[in-house]
Formats: sequence, structure tokens, C-alpha cells
Amino acid sequence: MKYKIVNGKLADEQGNPVVLEFGNRDQIDFIKDYQRMLDEFNGDGVELDVSMEAHYTASGYFRCTCGTGLYIEAEADDEDDEDCLVDWKKTCRICKTNYIIDKNDAGNIVAKINHD
Ligand SMILES: [Zn+2]
Repeated sequence: MKYKIVNGKLADEQGNPVVLEFGNRDQIDFIKDYQRMLDEFNGDGVELDVSMEAHYTASGYFRCTCGTGLYIEAEADDEDDEDCLVDWKKTCRICKTNYIIDKNDAGNIVAKINHD
């Protein structure tokens, strides 16, 4: 069975609530992965797939904690200007989680959960 988190609770792929079973390996693995992902979004951020297109449009893609693919797009000064994505805000249309785009110490463009 595939899982997702809906409103902070375990659910199946269709969004129906699932009762937690102790010792259920699939559930434990899913919840561990989910927690790891949340920790990343709340910590150093999750790296975006960034691509630069003609006429200098930077676009970035990442997956929300609910699994929804989120795109952002910004006008860039030149083809290396990934930084134009920084400080953009994005709200997931499905689960309403708010993100802000940042740049981490390694110079990667990352998404973080925005608590403001
Ligand atoms: Zn979402």
C-alpha cells in the first residue's frame, strides 16, 4: 500500500485515513522517510531541480511534503542567474504548505517550509 500524509495524519493514496498499526514495516518506513523530508524542509532545505531557459527564465521544481510537484519561475539577468529564484514564495495548492526558496551554504537553491 502507498501512503501519504493528509492534515498531519496517515492516509492512503486516495487520501482516506489509515489506522496506524504497530510493527507495520511499510508504515514505519513511510513515516521515517516523511519525517526525514520534513526535517530537510525545516533545516537546510530541499534542493530544487533548476533549469535555465532561453530569454533567461529560471525555473525550479521540487516536491511538496504531500507529494505534489511544485514549480516556480522567475526572470533571470543571465543564463547563470539561478539566484533570481531566491526569496520566491510558493504555497502548495493541495495541502497549503508554504515554502520559501533559499540558497544554502553549498550554493544550491533549496526550498524550505516558511513558518511566517
Ligand atoms: Zn502539498
